[in-house]
Amino acid sequence: MYLFQRSEDLQNWLQTVRGHNRKIGFVPTMGALHAGHLSLIDQSAAANTFTVCSIFVNPTQFNDHTDLEKYPRTPARDIELLVNSGCDALFLPAVGEVYPEGLDTGVDVSLGQLAEVMEGAFRPGHFAGVMQVVHRLLQLVLPDRLYMGQKDFQQQAIIQEMIRQLELPVELVMADIVREADGLAMSSRNVRLSPEFRSKAPLIHEILSQIKQDSEERSVAEWKTWAHNQLEQAGFRPEYLEIVDGKTLQPVSSFKESKYIVACVAAWAGDVRLIDNVIVRG
Ligand code: AMP
Repeated sequence: MYLFQRSEDLQNWLQTVRGHNRKIGFVPTMGALHAGHLSLIDQSAAANTFTVCSIFVNPTQFNDHTDLEKYPRTPARDIELLVNSGCDALFLPAVGEVYPEGLDTGVDVSLGQLAEVMEGAFRPGHFAGVMQVVHRLLQLVLPDRLYMGQKDFQQQAIIQEMIRQLELPVELVMADIVREADGLAMSSRNVRLSPEFRSKAPLIHEILSQIKQDSEERSVAEWKTWAHNQLEQAGFRPEYLEIVDGKTLQPVSSFKESKYIVACVAAWAGDVRLIDNVIVRG
């Protein structure tokens, strides 16, 4: 595996490997890699000639300074995991490589309602930062396929919309959520959970699974109240539990309202914010 810290070196290497009938798959991450990230690498490696992974803790998408500071960083272990995976090149840039002085890296896409709900409502500016970094990385890597996880459902929907509006020549592939044995969605932030919240955390997936399994048994409004109560009783601080149309991300009032319905949740487990979702229909 090649390791590039400078954009120019990555681009030079890409130029030598790009070619007719060769496909480049790209997996952007913020590091502290786990099996969820590696599943994206595996999928890319299986479908493309070359796989590029990036590790960059993007400051512009953090609305909370403490979250940025406390974000786990494990570069040596990440490199080891990637060397033993199907990754061909790792891009590990410093901030100045991604955002060089004098370069306008803003993205002009109007997301409208897509970015006003859920994560967008609770993390002001987050998606502007996500679009900025993904757009910049796509410009550098120019991949044929971009791999993103369903774990960040709204994020992939927004990047899909950015690709559509800017007519970027890349196919977005959404990968399933990889979970711990007890159902907790893998996340780099999980290592920060207290032992007490770590043992309670599978409740989030249990709640989502029950909504999916027994959706017809209660109304959307009743499920939301039930889920909030369950989370609060267990000591979580839920920010939202929304049942939305999977394309528009707007809340539905009935399960019959759309053929593609996703239940999404964000909740604080002490000082760690967890998100998860399940596709209820579709
Ligand atoms: P992150 O490093 O958290 O920015 O995540 C990088 C990519 O990995 C994003 O596309 C995430 O959606 C994806 N990802 C994160 N956690 C998981 C998971 N548990 N299963 C599958 N993909 C994931």
